[in-house]
Amino acid sequence: MSDTDTQGHAETLRTPIVAVLGHVDHGKTTLLDKIRGSAVSEGEAGAITQHIGATAVPLETVSQMAGSLVNPDDFDLPGLLFIDTPGHHSFTTLRSRGGALADIAVLVVDVNDGFQPQTLEALDILQRTGTPFVVAANKIDTTPGWNRQDGEPIQKTYEAQSKQARKRLDENLYKIIGNLSDEGFSADLYWRVQNFTKNIGVVPLSAITGEGIPDLLAVLMGLSQRYMKEEMEIDVDGPGKGTVLEVKEEKGFGATLDVVLYDGTVKEDETIVVGGANGPIVTEVRAILQPRPNAEIRTEKRFNRVESVSAATGTKIAAPDLEDAMAGAPVRVVRDRDLDEVIAEVEAELAGIEVDTAEQGVVVKADTLGSLEAMANALDEAEVPIVRAEVGDVAPRDVSIAGTAREDEHKVILGFNVDVLPDAKKELENSDVRLFKHDVIYQLIEDYDEFITERKREQQ
Ligand code: GDP
Repeated sequence: MSDTDTQGHAETLRTPIVAVLGHVDHGKTTLLDKIRGSAVSEGEAGAITQHIGATAVPLETVSQMAGSLVNPDDFDLPGLLFIDTPGHHSFTTLRSRGGALADIAVLVVDVNDGFQPQTLEALDILQRTGTPFVVAANKIDTTPGWNRQDGEPIQKTYEAQSKQARKRLDENLYKIIGNLSDEGFSADLYWRVQNFTKNIGVVPLSAITGEGIPDLLAVLMGLSQRYMKEEMEIDVDGPGKGTVLEVKEEKGFGATLDVVLYDGTVKEDETIVVGGANGPIVTEVRAILQPRPNAEIRTEKRFNRVESVSAATGTKIAAPDLEDAMAGAPVRVVRDRDLDEVIAEVEAELAGIEVDTAEQGVVVKADTLGSLEAMANALDEAEVPIVRAEVGDVAPRDVSIAGTAREDEHKVILGFNVDVLPDAKKELENSDVRLFKHDVIYQLIEDYDEFITERKREQQ
C-alpha cells in the first residue's frame, strides 16, 4: 500500500512491532521459536525474514499459519515484526514517552503457575505505556487429560475437552482473568471479546505443540488492523526514527547499535543523533549491517552491508563514538532537518524519562532507560529516595557516591539487570556500601526493604 503525496513522499503502512513479555520460564522463548519454526516449515522461501534483533513474518505467512482465521484480503498491514529478545530486556525498553519500541505486546502466562512478579511488572509497564496487549495462556498441553485437536481453532479444542480437563483448565484460565481484573483490566477468552482495546483477549495455547498459535497470530493481526492502522502510516522515505535495542561491541566495527527502526530510512554516511549517558551523541553512520543467513557466529562475515534500510526493521548501525549510547534511547536521522532541532528532540525524549533525584538517597543502576524508569517508579511508590539513577554497569563512581551518604539506608546501590565493573568490585570490598542486584524489580525492592527492616530491628 503506497500513496505518493505532492512532495513525493511515500505514505506506507508499516509492520506492527510485537514484543513478547512475561515471567521467567513461562515460555516466551519457546513461543517465539515456535512461531519462527512453524513459519519456516510452512515451506516457501521468504516465509520469514531474519532482521537484527527481530523476525518479520509477512501477512502471507501469517495467513498460511492461521488458516481460516486470517484471510489476507481483509488486511493491508504487511505482517508482524516480532522482537527476538523476549522478557525483561525487550519490555523494559518499552517506553512511556517518545518513540515506543513495540506497538503491541504478548504477555505470556504459564496457566499452571499463574501471575508472578515479572507478570505484574510487565503489566505495570503495559498499563503506563498504554500498549495494547493480548495474554497467551501458555502450556495448556500440561492440563491432565488434555485432548489435542490439530488444525482446529483453539475454541473448538477447548470446547471438546473432557469434563475433568475442562474444569481444571477453566480454574487456571479464570484465575488469570481474575488476576487481570485485580490489576484493572477487563479480560476474557479471546473469542468472547468484541473490542480488543477495551477488553484483554486471553488466548489459551501451547508453545510446545503449537495449538492456539494460529489464534494468537489472528488476534494480533486483527487488533493491529482494526485499531492501530493509523499509527502504522509512515513516511518511508523520510529521515529514520528508531529505538536502541542494544549497544554491542562487534569485531571489526567497535561499538554498534542494534536498532528497531519504526519510521523512515537510514542510509550510509548519514548524520544521526543517538541518546547517550552524557547527552545526545551526534555521529555518522559508517555501516548498516543485516544478518547473513547461516553465517558463522562472531566474525565480521556474519553481516551483510547494505546502503540503506527502511522501517519497520531491526538493523545494526556501526558508527564512531557510540560507547555511551544507551539501550532504550532514541535514534534520529538528521538528513535535511536542522541538527539543533533533532538534538533538542532527542534531549526532550531523554529528559522525559529523567528520574527525580533527591539530595540523599540510594544509587540506582539499570540496563535500559525503560528499566531505569520502571525502577524509579517502583522506588517512588515504596517512598525510597534516589540520589543518582543511570543506565549501565555499577562503576567505581557509583560506589563513591553511595559511600558519601549520611544514613546507612542510603549507602546502597540497587542494580537491575547489570554487572559490576572490576574496579567497582574492589571499591565495594573496601567500603560499607551495600549492593543489591536482581533481575526482578519487585524482588530487588523486597531485598532492600528486608535490609531496612533488619537495620531498624538492630538499632532498637
Ligand atoms: P522463558 O524464560 O519465558 O523464555 O521460558 P522458556 O521458553 O525458556 O520455557 C521454559 C520452560 O517451559 C522450558 O523447559 C520449555 O520447554 C517449557 N515450555 C514452554 N512452553 C511450553 C508449553 O507450551 N508446554 C509445555 N509443556 N512446556 C513448555
